[in-house]
Amino acid sequence: MLGFDPGDDRKLVEWPVLVRYFDALAKASDRVDIKELGKTTLGAPFIALAISSPQNLRRLDYYRQLNAGLADPRTLRTAKAARDAVQNGKTIVLITSSIHSTEVGGHLSPVALAYRLATDTGATTRAILDNVIVWLVPSLNPDGVTIVAKWYNRTLGTTAEGTEPPELYHHYAGHDNNRDWYAFTQVETQLTVDSLYNVWHPQIVHDIHQMDANGARLFLPPYLDPIEPNVDPLLIDGVNALGATMAWELGGQGKTGISINSTYDAWTPARAYQHYHGGVRILSETASADLASPIEIPFDRLQARERGYNPRERSWNFTNPWRGGRWTLRDIVSYQTDGAYALLTQAARERERWLANFLTIETRASRGWREWPYAYVIPARQDSVALSALLGILHRGDVEIRTAQQAFTVQGQRQAAGAYVVVLRQPYASFAKTLLEPQHYPDRRQYPGGPPERPYDVTAHTLPLLMGLRAIEVSDSLRVPLSAPIVPRVVAPIPPIAPTDSHPPRIGLYRSYNATMDEGWTRWVFDTWKVAYTTLVDSVVRAGKLHEQFDVIVLPDQPPGELMEGLPPRYPAPYPGGVGSDGADALRQFVADGGTLVALNEASRFAIQALLLPVRNVLEAVSDEDFYAPGSIFRLELDTANAVAHGMPRETIGWFQSGPAFDVLDSSVTQVIGRWPTDPARVLLSGWVLHPERIAGKAAILEVQMGTGRVILFGLRPQYRGQSIVTYPLLFNSLRIK
Ligand SMILES: [Zn+2]
Repeated sequence: MLGFDPGDDRKLVEWPVLVRYFDALAKASDRVDIKELGKTTLGAPFIALAISSPQNLRRLDYYRQLNAGLADPRTLRTAKAARDAVQNGKTIVLITSSIHSTEVGGHLSPVALAYRLATDTGATTRAILDNVIVWLVPSLNPDGVTIVAKWYNRTLGTTAEGTEPPELYHHYAGHDNNRDWYAFTQVETQLTVDSLYNVWHPQIVHDIHQMDANGARLFLPPYLDPIEPNVDPLLIDGVNALGATMAWELGGQGKTGISINSTYDAWTPARAYQHYHGGVRILSETASADLASPIEIPFDRLQARERGYNPRERSWNFTNPWRGGRWTLRDIVSYQTDGAYALLTQAARERERWLANFLTIETRASRGWREWPYAYVIPARQDSVALSALLGILHRGDVEIRTAQQAFTVQGQRQAAGAYVVVLRQPYASFAKTLLEPQHYPDRRQYPGGPPERPYDVTAHTLPLLMGLRAIEVSDSLRVPLSAPIVPRVVAPIPPIAPTDSHPPRIGLYRSYNATMDEGWTRWVFDTWKVAYTTLVDSVVRAGKLHEQFDVIVLPDQPPGELMEGLPPRYPAPYPGGVGSDGADALRQFVADGGTLVALNEASRFAIQALLLPVRNVLEAVSDEDFYAPGSIFRLELDTANAVAHGMPRETIGWFQSGPAFDVLDSSVTQVIGRWPTDPARVLLSGWVLHPERIAGKAAILEVQMGTGRVILFGLRPQYRGQSIVTYPLLFNSLRIK
């Protein structure tokens, strides 16, 4: 049907070919149903397959309802109803693949897995089909399957064979598409949550990924610490048991190089929706080749770069090292497919345990944890767009939001009737709590007194801070009648630059071929808030005369080296080279001619160097031991007299992520727009920081005059992953012509 075996060297196909395959499989097999859930960002069909025994598939709705009872035990009227749901229910397993499109085994393993489940007649497969309802999403990012396959096939046999495409593989979010599981900004995330997670409440989610080529062959849970503290402990027990069982099973089949309890922690809800919805998330990460091209890795080139194990030494969590040698797409597909099959085998065998534990987890959540606050109160009279975004997230996350039906007092403050109340005694209370409270990331070191242990991702996700809203933690029950759960009102963003403006700024948004996620997020924010812009590529920047075409140029967050050099020469024209020195000169001229250059986060370091600005980055070459904040929410003080901070409060937040912090060297041409607090103890609001005194009192946002133009430097990410709504105005104001 595909014309090749999934896993054949150098064989990748675009998404429509895979959709045709799954359509045909569903037609041919009474064990497979196919459903289109909607369309992707670029308009491709977003599909899911239901795989189970023919009898189960005929009664899907019955099993969905049984499972819905377990997901919300408040609806189970009697102990017998609960027992029946556990005895008669099926384990619901959601398998998701290829959210990261360059992890190309993930394009094909779903083909191999679905075919096996559809055709195999062995006892193990029968047990899986009888006991499990599998929802298989063959790609969480279908657009990327096509982008990567197109690029791969185009460059096959050239020096660029096996390279990453010169564009983001998710139109807006790139690799960050797998950091969107609480913000729900992207349509693919929304479809998965609305049509699968919240309908089927899977006990097990298996997310298939790939990692670097030169470590273990396969990672499986347990995860490393830290585990986010609101995740139910029984759920982590499930993660540990299932991951270790899969490793054991694959070891028994003769697979080597499997590491558990390494590299990946479980801190953030951004990657793990189900950890806050009663189910486990089993991440698998298989070693990569060069896309679909095989690679050769001698044993002595395996490197202990990751945390928790050494790929050249056996240890309790890496029991049987891989010997090195050739590594192919076939190996990847085999590890991924057999891994998923091992997961399903355990899910079938332990069906009752999964359902009983799921019921326990949801019962505990519905009753509430003793040490948790009783509720959060969110005042109704706040910025309506931000409020709509926050309540929309909670609502999409299946959190019940109620309103107070009378005025009441909480912590000495009068709240008007209509205030929103999230009571933390409901099935998905942990989702609400973790997003509403500040994070206290533990101070973890590589060894006592040593450098910080790098978290796998960022350390903060407090939405009220990111959105500039108040959410009040209430420890005791509220003496006010509450409404039934409400559906929050959707308030559309107001375009910051009025469409009626007779001279709207001509905005250029730089887009590197060494594609950066921040460029994608900036584009997403501009598109969502209806800010008109033109994308600028290297050739346009290098050609100069920029002020004839643009009033404002935005450089998204990107390290200076990448901006300057771009992609290496092995890429075909026009991709290699970056802005180069011609581009740097052109940008300097653009400002001298009267343009505004806006540089975000690390791009500020480029602007300082390329335009020889009288500004010093105080964190340049500072080691992690001397300052560390890998993604945290800081307090930010603004000079609201400056037009960039117009309309903002004097005190707000800044998303700090490995950015620069500034010292002003010539105050006659420089204005400080934003500053981190002078008192180091006041810097951190949520997440983690080491040695905040390094940046205390330093400038965070600057405006530097140069000729008739200006440069605005951000030492933070004002539009971080489409979440930091409260600081969008700083970016939007920067775009206005002076
Ligand atoms: Zn991945």
